[in-house]
Amino acid sequence: MSANSELLIFKKILENTSEAVVITDPDGSILELNEAMSRMTGFEREEMLGRNSRMFKSGRHSHDFYRELWETLTAEGHWEGEIWDRRKDGSVYPKWQTINVVRGESGEAVNYIGVSTDITVIKEAEEKLNHLAYHDPLTGLPNRMLFSDRVEHEVAGARRTGALFAVLYVDLDRFKHVNDSLGHVAGDTLLVQVADRIKECLRESDTLCRVGGDEFAVVLQNLEREENAGMVAQKLVMRVSQRFEINGKDVNIGASVGIALYPKDGVDTDSLLRKADGALYNAKEEGKGLYRYACGDLERVNRSRLEIEGRMHRALERGEFVLLYQPQVASPDATPGFDYGLQGAEALIRWQSEPGVFVCPGEFLPVAEDTGFIAPLGDWVLLQACRDAKRWEDAGRPVQVSVNVAPRQFDTGDFERRVAGVLETTGLSPALLKLEVTESGFMRNIGRVTDIMNRIRALGVTFAIDDFGTGYSSMNYLNRLPVDCLKIDQSFVRTMNDGESGAHIVSAIVSMAKAFGLSTAAEGVETFDQLRALQEFGCDLIQGFLISRPVSTEDFERYIGLS
Ligand code: C2E
Ligand code: MG
Ligand code: MG
Repeated sequence: MSANSELLIFKKILENTSEAVVITDPDGSILELNEAMSRMTGFEREEMLGRNSRMFKSGRHSHDFYRELWETLTAEGHWEGEIWDRRKDGSVYPKWQTINVVRGESGEAVNYIGVSTDITVIKEAEEKLNHLAYHDPLTGLPNRMLFSDRVEHEVAGARRTGALFAVLYVDLDRFKHVNDSLGHVAGDTLLVQVADRIKECLRESDTLCRVGGDEFAVVLQNLEREENAGMVAQKLVMRVSQRFEINGKDVNIGASVGIALYPKDGVDTDSLLRKADGALYNAKEEGKGLYRYACGDLERVNRSRLEIEGRMHRALERGEFVLLYQPQVASPDATPGFDYGLQGAEALIRWQSEPGVFVCPGEFLPVAEDTGFIAPLGDWVLLQACRDAKRWEDAGRPVQVSVNVAPRQFDTGDFERRVAGVLETTGLSPALLKLEVTESGFMRNIGRVTDIMNRIRALGVTFAIDDFGTGYSSMNYLNRLPVDCLKIDQSFVRTMNDGESGAHIVSAIVSMAKAFGLSTAAEGVETFDQLRALQEFGCDLIQGFLISRPVSTEDFERYIGLS
């Protein structure tokens, strides 16, 4: 091919790509650019040619930012990241920018090639998502997600300064009664008033969150003495037990409070939250309208945990754990039953403690995670699911099986070896295995977990983020994580049709996923209305009771026509 025709082809590609491309000389003077670049910046081609690429600077980045950019570029020949630029009309916008160096024969930089995409839409979706995902729409208070964040933050601060702080869980007594007898609207009004009263008992620097229906949580900062937490709790209990007036009616409720202290009851977020929860449980057991400190419960909690752990060990030996499978179907074909569009199935564990009694994972997995038993249990799940999937593959009915991975499983040090081992023993095609990881699973140590995921992915296994939206839904990590699919949490699917926010979140997640080339799956789909909305947003996979409940292996095989 002549140099000329090569150039022509090159120009064609440039013109037709949707990404903005700009080529400069070593000093940054613009030599060539494409149509998409004009569209993105608002400048005509002639207005840019010959000028320095500095012309797009927004002034939003520091000198250090550009210095580091140039250092990386010079050292590695490549830079990638988010940059805020300014358009011709003065508006500032975020773009995802890649810059590559073209080098001459003696290694000197001859040209820079910049390729970028406008990510305004993604940023907006991200912000919306973050706000919606972090706040309770009714009271405007931070929700459970933000609460754990705050506690995390407080722990980090207290480690440095040695300050004392307390976590309080507050649960309303008799709230359900009000809700049932006066209706949800009255219930909502009451919750808003309760939130105001609790706030009156706190200092400006304390944080109040609504973490569940009638549950609140508080972080009391910089306590001078431990007793002060009890004093605040007492005040709060009294204040909430005073009469409310809702729609002209007198309403009486109460509150119970559980208190955990840093560092006495725990030095990390998980244990503080658990202790506060245990203390709340005790306060309620002892008669409501009380507050309780966490210490002292430890023994009781531990004993029952040890007992459950012992029973789980025996159960694994006796083969009492079983897997159920819940089908995942392609959204356009989704109808009740999984006759159409079956794409995969999620393996969900049950403990058959007695014949006919199936214990749900919510009751034993937390203990398994705490005690480390999750590692052998997770190994068993992985092996069993891959064996089942291999049988289906061999029978000519390949089904991609999704296996849930608990955060602790990444801590075993050899997780990728275990996955590779299971694939080897069973002979399952790696593409038929998908691992579901929750956001908390990798946020604890994103670098290390990303490495492990990358190595597993190199085997051909795919990854989904489970319960997406309930954690740290940030573009920052979406970009870095080796995942293929976002699994939208059921809480958003559930609220999709009865208020605005659920639907917004779902559509934001789907468009964000698309922008990153990820697929989306919705879980907990129970109604046709939810299905239709998900189809409209372009969500790829559907899973939920509407299609099918999780079913036994035998039933699943019958459905796919194998027995
Ligand atoms: P998950 O991975 O988010 O699984 C979805 C849960 O939603 C399952 O609960 C499933 O039965 C339930 N579900 C599915 N469709 C619907 C629906 O339409 N409506 C409603 N209300 N619920 C629906 P399940 O089986 O109780 O599992 C709970 C959680 O336990 C799972 O959440 C997962 O995080 C964990 N889990 C289950 N099996 C395993 C396992 O083998 N290993 C690990 N590490 N975790 C597991
Ligand atoms: Mg899952
Ligand atoms: Mg889930």
